[in-house]
Amino acid sequence: MQTQTLERMESNVRTYSRSFPVVFTKAMNARLTDENGREYIDFLAGAGTLNYGHNNPHLKQALLDYLASDGIVHGLDFWTAAKRDYLETLEEVILKPRGLDYKIQLPGPTGTNAVEAAIRLARVAKGRHNIVTFTNGFHGVTMGSLATTGNRKFREATGGIPLQGAAFMPFDGYLGENTDTLDYFEKLLADKSGGLDTPAAVIIETVQGEGGINVAGLEWLKRLEKICRSNDILLIVDDIQAGCGRTGKFFSFEHAGITPDIVTNSKSLSGFGLPFAHVLMRPELDKWKPGQYNGTFRGFNLAFATAAAAMRQYWSDDTFERDVQRKGDIVADRFKKIAAWLTEHGVEATERGRGLMRGIDVGTGDIADKITGKAFENGLVIETSGQDGEVVKCLCPLTIPDEDLQQGLDILEESVKQVIA
Ligand SMILES: *Cc1c(COP(=O)(O)O)cnc(C)c1O
Repeated sequence: MQTQTLERMESNVRTYSRSFPVVFTKAMNARLTDENGREYIDFLAGAGTLNYGHNNPHLKQALLDYLASDGIVHGLDFWTAAKRDYLETLEEVILKPRGLDYKIQLPGPTGTNAVEAAIRLARVAKGRHNIVTFTNGFHGVTMGSLATTGNRKFREATGGIPLQGAAFMPFDGYLGENTDTLDYFEKLLADKSGGLDTPAAVIIETVQGEGGINVAGLEWLKRLEKICRSNDILLIVDDIQAGCGRTGKFFSFEHAGITPDIVTNSKSLSGFGLPFAHVLMRPELDKWKPGQYNGTFRGFNLAFATAAAAMRQYWSDDTFERDVQRKGDIVADRFKKIAAWLTEHGVEATERGRGLMRGIDVGTGDIADKITGKAFENGLVIETSGQDGEVVKCLCPLTIPDEDLQQGLDILEESVKQVIA
């Protein structure tokens, strides 16, 4: 495989090609193929961007049809038929059946664009600067989002510019099972000399993706919502990774029965892996003046077409979400067994997750890297997350065939045994 040009020309900042140093050529659903024709099962799936698999045939057809019809590809934020269809489908298929009423902002197409827009909106709406975020949270790497992101590696890479406007609270479980970390947040809010500037909003991932598949309890999330309501603080759920079905519901917060004021989606929102993001906001929060926030790529028409097709294909009834939950249980069972085996062999390990967003915490990044490295040798693309990269995580396409899921899990188990034996 020719990698010299890639190694020579691409900046040091590259990431995933270090873990998977092959040249990929093709992909279909949960399988990737490299230049030598070797196939891999994909448990990374664009870090949760390919929930409906690589080159999903339904979505590809929608894209091809749209292009063939000379549909508008770029139109700034013009009204287009594709945009109208996207909004109508979102309303009919996703929002109305869930009793949700949101207005939609189309920021630039990446996750961090959506987070920047969401926190800016919260600040404008409340006239306050402070955003409360949580330990191990990840919300993107542009300056505003980065201020709300815990990861030191990213925070240190600003060239010394201070990151401002965010305050960190302990996520659920951060201080051990027996401490409800919201006691601390609630106490600070009530304490006139607690030192916390009254926040405009709280931003949270209900399951932390990059932070290590940390799962917020459903009661804890309900209590967080209640604290926000009683203190006039907006609740932003960053559903960029956990949304679009990853946890077994379209929105990850549905499990807790809470209603965020603002929601961000990106990653799997287009369904096809096209760059696309939106911000959902309660209608009365739409305090923007015309053109006050902009961007050249606001709403990508090709993504409107594939996103609408994905909603129609997978979310018109509950068949798909039940299937995700079924597969999530398969992964959970297997991960529990692998974690138990590791623990028996002297590596303390635990399983956690919700739906098909699951991980095994093996204690250190060193062991996790050995496992994922061996897995790659054995034909499985799988990554780690967590503050030390100590969590081996499964983000396989939600559409993965059962045989591929089993094969991926077999490879992982075999790799664990090869590394620890
Ligand atoms: C990936 C991610 C982001 C950032 O998205 P980008 O497209 O990489 O900017 C923000 N929040 C969460 C929860 C994410 O997983």
